[in-house]
Amino acid sequence: MNKPLIAITGASSGIGEETARAFAREGHPLLLMARRIERLEALGLPDCLCRRVDVTDLESFRKAVQKGVERFGPVDCLVNNAGTMLLSKAHLQDVVEWERMLDVNVKGMLNGIHLVLSDMIQRHAGTIINIASVAGLKPGPNLAVYSGTKFAVRSISESIREEAAPYDVRVTVISPGLAETELLEHTTVQELRESFENLKEDMGGFLEPADVARAILYAYNQPREVCVREIVLAPTRQIR
Ligand code: NDP
Repeated sequence: MNKPLIAITGASSGIGEETARAFAREGHPLLLMARRIERLEALGLPDCLCRRVDVTDLESFRKAVQKGVERFGPVDCLVNNAGTMLLSKAHLQDVVEWERMLDVNVKGMLNGIHLVLSDMIQRHAGTIINIASVAGLKPGPNLAVYSGTKFAVRSISESIREEAAPYDVRVTVISPGLAETELLEHTTVQELRESFENLKEDMGGFLEPADVARAILYAYNQPREVCVREIVLAPTRQIR
């Protein structure tokens, strides 16, 4: 039997990219979205529609989902993974960076939910997997807004999980700790980037994106009657 469509935002690097490879290995058709479409296409995955999408732009996101559905059938799983992390002390940070994190991490995720949820509810089938963070459980310095966006991801996910549960739709949160991706490169404050590099050395390494992809597939591959509500995973040597 043909496997159903998996849609992934932010599939051009890091966790999203590894998740795309992992679902492709299991034979799923894919709708991959990000701004850097050339990186999506370079993955060369089979049964894969790549679309240039900025998740903050609802219309381009909508068109991509429509094209994916026309080609492969309904979205069975949306992985809302696109995100950005811009670390800084609040009194030093440009509000443009705050807006960016709120727009991508919160509104981008909501756009994705808006585009698939009512159809899933009507079909009594579907899984939405939202990528939060350990920073969504523990606030801290330099993280005020990033952490706030990830608390929002977890809170919004839990409310919607309760609403969607009677319709057999699952909502799952994956909350990773430090993972070796391009995320740290988003931060514009050089000392903070360096401090993470030092931390990585002290800890003997961060999670690999594949570690997080495995958790995502674990949650998705449970029987439909089982909803994994949240997975928190971090390097063993990560203390905070
Ligand atoms: P990466 O920087 O490697 O990946 C981020 C992805 O998001 C890229 O594919 C990027 O694609 C995409 N993206 C960013 N902005 C937009 C946008 N406006 N529209 C569409 N896509 C966008 O980092 P990670 O893989 O680490 O990040 C994935 C998720 O994991 C994020 O939500 C992050 O917050 C979360 N996370 C990461 C942790 C870590 O330590 N790495 C820890 C906890 C959570 P493009 O630039 O091509 O648009």
